Amino acid sequence: MNVVVIGGGKKDIPLFETLAEALSIRILGIIHPDDAAVSDIAGEMDISTGCTLDNLLRRPDIDLIIDLSGSKDVNKRVRKLKPARAKVINRSITRLLCQLLQDEGRVTYNLIDELTREHKSLYEIGLSLSSARNLSEVAKVIVQHATEFTNTPAGSLAVYDEENNEMSIVASVGFKTALARQKSWKLREGGLTSYILKQNRPVVISNISNHPEFINKQLAKEGIKSLIACPLFLDNKVVGIIYVDDYKVREFKARDISVLSLLSTYAAVAIEKAKLLEETKRLALTDDLTSLYNYRYFIRQFTVEISRAVRYGAPLSLIIVDIDHFKVYNDTNGHLKGNIILKQLANILKDESRASDIIARYGGEEFTILCPNTDKTHALRLAERFRQKVEEYRFPDAYSQPSGCITISAGVASYPEDSNKPLEIIDKADLALYMAKRMGRNRVCAYIEETRRAAL
Ligand code: GH3
Ligand code: MG
Ligand code: MG
Repeated sequence: MNVVVIGGGKKDIPLFETLAEALSIRILGIIHPDDAAVSDIAGEMDISTGCTLDNLLRRPDIDLIIDLSGSKDVNKRVRKLKPARAKVINRSITRLLCQLLQDEGRVTYNLIDELTREHKSLYEIGLSLSSARNLSEVAKVIVQHATEFTNTPAGSLAVYDEENNEMSIVASVGFKTALARQKSWKLREGGLTSYILKQNRPVVISNISNHPEFINKQLAKEGIKSLIACPLFLDNKVVGIIYVDDYKVREFKARDISVLSLLSTYAAVAIEKAKLLEETKRLALTDDLTSLYNYRYFIRQFTVEISRAVRYGAPLSLIIVDIDHFKVYNDTNGHLKGNIILKQLANILKDESRASDIIARYGGEEFTILCPNTDKTHALRLAERFRQKVEEYRFPDAYSQPSGCITISAGVASYPEDSNKPLEIIDKADLALYMAKRMGRNRVCAYIEETRRAAL
């Protein structure tokens, strides 16, 4: 096979060497070796470096052009000048080619052809990854392609959570049993996962019976006999693992493994990007101290919920909670201790509300609980439960409070009776809260028309 190399620098020397050592490859020329070291190597290998692009590419016997330039313009020009039969491959395919040369010691023209086609799919993966909206979509695209490339019936992708030293399956295809639903697991020293992550390359298990140490209940139940597990790294940090699995004992081809490792470099970047995006979104919507939603999210969600309530004729209630004499607590115990109270109170609100309720930190020591499908009577009951639970809870150093413990007051307003506009409902719940404070605190008030008059 006659090869022309375009571009490249010092770091590509191992690549040139691998190519030059391959018996079936003859390098006709290297163009633009800016690097003196490349020139030397080329000289040693008796490869011409002096030609121009136009001259060299005019040769009709070129089979393959390796374009390492990374430049769109160069690539365009090469494709225009090259003989029709010559294939052009870029850096990532070249890396794969060299890996195959090392693994298999030979490369056929058909293989190049297959690789180029696969590369096209990798390019397509790149496109679908960049349009995926969240981590689970990204993961799904990756697993689907990984199983297709390797012709395996099942596969999954696990993402690593550094904080908890845990792996979580975020996408899977083809599984028959609950294996895929085993959502997360802790890393265990000596376990399969830890072993995989210690490797810098895909771990290939052709017959799991030969590795009893790796057999776990889930794998056995699913009937997995062979697998490739490809660790994903980015900047030396663990990102996750792609698994492709088969139900039969199987010798995987070197190409399956190489394509999977190529895919893994795309996957690692895409996953990190998706995770970062999700984290950014989460931070923009939640309050750092309590992890509750923030004001911005609350207002946005209120608009959504009220239009839903109006459309379905369902009730909707808002509870505003405010800590009584919190200034006293802060003045006595300091701001940091005060923050602990805020966190513990947030947890009580979370524990006592339903999953459909939206709890937000409205302001400093004020919280809002938006309750879809809840009328005023039920919202009052929920607010009263919050009040009681807080009164009963043993907060630290609360004895200095005027009533000897931490208490809250709450105001309730609802759709449809009070308004169909979020800001008006907030206003009325606030007035009700104000009444609760006026009436002596540690109590819950609902907004009624008299509230407004009484407040004036
Ligand atoms: P009331 O019963 O009338 O609500 O009295 P209060 O002292 O709770 O009300 P006020 O509005 O006078 O004081 C609210 C206090 O909440 C003042 C402020 O120091 C405290 N606060 C607001 N945000 C934070 C916070 O993020 N951390 C802490 N520790 N305290 C906060
Ligand atoms: Mg307040
Ligand atoms: Mg207060």
